[in-house]
Amino acid sequence: MLEIEQALSLVLQHVERTPRQCIPTADAVGSVLAENVASDIDSPPHDKALMDGYAVRADDLSTGVAEFNVVEEVTAGSVPTQPIRSGFATRIMTGAPIPLGADAVVILEHSDILHASPLRVRLHEPHAQPGLNILRQGQSLRRGEIVFHEGTEIRPVEVGLLAEVGRTEVAVHVRPRVAVLSTGNELVPASRLPDRGKIRNSNGPMLIALATHAGASPVDLGIGFDQEDDLRARILDGLREDVLVLSGGVSMGTADLVPKVLNDLGVKQVFHKVRMKPGKPIWFGVSSLNDRKTLVFGLPGNPVSSLVGFELFVRPAISQLKGLRVNQWPLRTVRLAHAHQQRSDRAVFRPAFTRQQGNEFVVELLEWHGSADLRTLADADCLAYFPAGEHDLSAGETISIYPL
Ligand code: AMP
Ligand code: MG
Repeated sequence: MLEIEQALSLVLQHVERTPRQCIPTADAVGSVLAENVASDIDSPPHDKALMDGYAVRADDLSTGVAEFNVVEEVTAGSVPTQPIRSGFATRIMTGAPIPLGADAVVILEHSDILHASPLRVRLHEPHAQPGLNILRQGQSLRRGEIVFHEGTEIRPVEVGLLAEVGRTEVAVHVRPRVAVLSTGNELVPASRLPDRGKIRNSNGPMLIALATHAGASPVDLGIGFDQEDDLRARILDGLREDVLVLSGGVSMGTADLVPKVLNDLGVKQVFHKVRMKPGKPIWFGVSSLNDRKTLVFGLPGNPVSSLVGFELFVRPAISQLKGLRVNQWPLRTVRLAHAHQQRSDRAVFRPAFTRQQGNEFVVELLEWHGSADLRTLADADCLAYFPAGEHDLSAGETISIYPL
């Protein structure tokens, strides 16, 4: 049986980036740049005031205090008309361009008005030196400078900076399309009250939400029965997309038909079963029906197994499809809040949550009732990860967690 790292590396070997496409920057959150982006301007476009105050020559304040005649007031959005000579000042507001000749801004709080009209002020500033409270032209970024490199994931802050450099459209990798098919004779849609022997389909909506959150476009294939013809028809629909995620039907039971149907449809199995808990029966293969490559994941039906399988294998695949470079999981190390004994011949993932203790974060494992217990997972903000083996851990020892 494969170890989890081997399985991830096999998945990633089969992932190619989606093609590029130009889209409005406003729609690009979660996508990944397929081009380098350069600035078309200096930012700021002029030397600008960082505070409300008086623009002066720093030399005039060598003794820490001096009096000035104020020649004009400049607010953000307007431009100065008067150069500044020794003994003169411009009343200036945050964001406004610095007048010629001035090289420092003394804040309003360091001024006293001596005469209102014409305005004359006394300024006290023991630390006056050129550059005080001024952001120089181009100090944040220069015209022609590369602001973002290809492969950058677009977050809200990137949207802001793209707007600053005038990019209303950007080239990104096309959002991967992820089809989700829940299988099981026991499943009814969430809108129905389950009859005896039935349960609601929680995996379908959860996997669609996970795919959306990972930056993919989800395609809902509904519920498939544990019956070859029905599965075949729905799986064929899924093989039109970049990724097909199935839940259920990959274990050893008599109704577990998913691997057989996938095999009959020519989907090449890459692996079945990974040494992990929960989620061991996970199935992964690749289809190239009608010249379209589809990555196919068969996740075990228990909701926690489905979620862990998605996080460990499907999310990295989506990330790489959409243009990110992936080579490992975003594990972090945190101290255990309590002693814990873990014994397993498989890698184990346990719902856990992190909380502040003193000036650091510690992690606490949640009591849970196995891989059908989605209720407890909803209280978790991470999965605690224990490699296979015997671990006798004391409170304060560090372990790895996978943030959710
Ligand atoms: P399976 O992997 O098909 O053997 O299913 C394992 C367990 O997960 C069974 O108890 C199923 O009833 C349950 N299960 C399967 N699919 C779903 C689903 N879509 N939503 C909630 N539970 C499911
Ligand atoms: Mg089943």
